[in-house]
Amino acid sequence: MKPQNTPLGINAVVGFAVAVILLASGVLGVDALMHSGASVPHTISKQEIKDLRYMREEEKLARDVYMFLADRWGLPAFQRIAQAEQRHTDAIAALLDRYHIPDPARDKAPGVFVDAGLSALYAELVAKGSQSLDQALWVGGLIEEVDIHDLDKALANTQLLDISQVYQQIQAGSRNHLRAFVSNLENRGTPYRAQKLSPDRVRVIVTGPMERGPLFF
Ligand code: MN
Ligand code: MN
Repeated sequence: MKPQNTPLGINAVVGFAVAVILLASGVLGVDALMHSGASVPHTISKQEIKDLRYMREEEKLARDVYMFLADRWGLPAFQRIAQAEQRHTDAIAALLDRYHIPDPARDKAPGVFVDAGLSALYAELVAKGSQSLDQALWVGGLIEEVDIHDLDKALANTQLLDISQVYQQIQAGSRNHLRAFVSNLENRGTPYRAQKLSPDRVRVIVTGPMERGPLFF
C-alpha cells in the first residue's frame, strides 16, 4: 500500500462520480427539454420532408379539382371549399419554407404535379366529376377521405409540433368538407357510402357537428 496515493485515489473516484452526475443531469436536462415540445430544434427526417412535399401537392390537387368542378357545375360549395384548399396548401408551403425544403408546387399551373400518382389521380377525378353533379360530389367525398387517410399517416410520422398542428387543422377541414359533400349528396336523395376510410369512421365523421378552427374552412 502506498499511503501517498490514497488521497489521489479518492480524488479520482470523487471526480469521476461528480463527472458522471453532471453528465447524467446534463443528458436528463436535454431529454426533458426535447420532450417539452417547444424551442429545441429537432432535425427534420427524410420521411417528414417527403410527407410535407406530398401533402403540399395533395392539398393543391383538392384545390385544382374543386376549381374545375366549380366551373363545370356552378355549385357554390366547390368554390368555397377550393378556397379552403388554397389555405391548406399555403399552410404547408409555409412549413416547406420554414424547413428550407424545395416546394414541388411552386409556379405550377392547375392540374400539374411533380408526383406522377397525383397527376394520374387528377385526370381520373376531373373525368369522373365531369359526368354529373352527383359524380362530382362523390369525387369530393373521395378526395376528403383520401386526404384524411394520408394525413393519418403523415401525423404518425412526425414528432414536430408545428407540422403536426398544421396537419391536425387541415384534417379537421377535411372532415368538414366530407360533411358538406355528404349532405349535398343526401339532399339530392343519394345515400353516401365510404370510399376509402372504414364505414364506421365515415359514419362518426358525418354524424358529428361541423368543427371550427383557423384552417377548418
Ligand atoms: Mn384540405
Ligand atoms: Mn378538403
